[in-house]
Amino acid sequence: MIYLDYAATTPIDPEVKKIFDHVQEEFFANPDSLHGLGVASATLLRDAKQEIAKLLRVKPQELIMTSGATEANNMALFGAARQYQNRGKHIVTTKIEHASVYKPLIMLEEDEGFDITYLSVDKYGKVSIEDILAAITEETILVSVIHVNNEIGSVQPVSEIAKAVKAEHPDIIVHIDMAQSVGKVPIDLTDIDLATFSGHKFYAPKGVGMLYRKMGITLKPVFAGGQQEQGARPGTVNVAFTAAVAKAFSVAVNRMEDKANTDRVKEVHKRLYEGLSQYAMLEMTRSTHPDQNMPYFVHFRFKTTVVEVETYVNALSEKGACVATRSSCHSKSMAMANPILLAIGCKSETSRYSIRLSVSHLTKLAEIDAFLEAFKEVMEDLHGAEVHAAS
Ligand code: PMP
Repeated sequence: MIYLDYAATTPIDPEVKKIFDHVQEEFFANPDSLHGLGVASATLLRDAKQEIAKLLRVKPQELIMTSGATEANNMALFGAARQYQNRGKHIVTTKIEHASVYKPLIMLEEDEGFDITYLSVDKYGKVSIEDILAAITEETILVSVIHVNNEIGSVQPVSEIAKAVKAEHPDIIVHIDMAQSVGKVPIDLTDIDLATFSGHKFYAPKGVGMLYRKMGITLKPVFAGGQQEQGARPGTVNVAFTAAVAKAFSVAVNRMEDKANTDRVKEVHKRLYEGLSQYAMLEMTRSTHPDQNMPYFVHFRFKTTVVEVETYVNALSEKGACVATRSSCHSKSMAMANPILLAIGCKSETSRYSIRLSVSHLTKLAEIDAFLEAFKEVMEDLHGAEVHAAS
């Protein structure tokens, strides 16, 4: 199998699994129970949060464990909008957010009378800080921006965005979706109020995520129940998940700081990018050019629409290659134009004819070679001599 879909999800890291299994088996008690095993579980939970807090240079009480980034984004957006609506009902965001950000925002707009500004991005998938500042009005209470885009891999300068917003408007809440960030780009939460994370994007299990909530920020709870997680997220906390996230976080940070490792990923990325650039029938999405971004995404569009994009994906799958057509959360709604590609200037007729490949430290050069061979065969099967005539 050639797995090139690490942005959709990652396999659990063996070291992380070891810790997860150990905590799950030995410390299964409810961390709120008063007996000995409960106290031992609570101690493990506290230690795990301390470890994550240290890596993020924040306080452990600022971390709220969730079931994933979707829940964290919903909690952040509904929670902040409803809590601070007495200050105003305007929210600024971008046109390239994940569904777990834009759908809550659409609900706030349609059901609760909020006014949302969706900012355009340039052809590289970047939003401008000036545009964000210019969109802010006296009514603005929240700015929400994705850090690493899950489809094309563009990276927003979120620290600078947060700093610029806070310098002029200290009361505006800044939320950043960092679901794709851990292990790929450095994270600095200094001027950020709310940040979203997802364990399964960095080799922890699926079903665990986290919301960073800066001290002093209140969120109207989305769920009602117990007092867990500083009252922000009721429900028994999964200690083994939290321990797994702590381990996965530290492994990811160490790996990112290991130059030999990042050089290897860059080499893998370059071979893949250059291999696909040979085809005149493809248009490489520029935000993923090796010189412009981190090397985890390769994204391209077919210039021709004669073959449905699912046909390529299925043909590649038959040859053992796992690739994505667009964000996995949208792979079932292929008939619609792709809003992220529309945002970077792609025509609506061709926007859905695109493929996302995402690599990792686990990807081998030999896998890339095998993928390029499989891709060539698929292109020849589907387009015949045309492929060679065009390239
Ligand atoms: N935000 C982004 C940028 C993502 O890539 C994803 C996952 N595709 C999510 C949010 C949702 O994450 P989860 O699967 O943890 O709910």
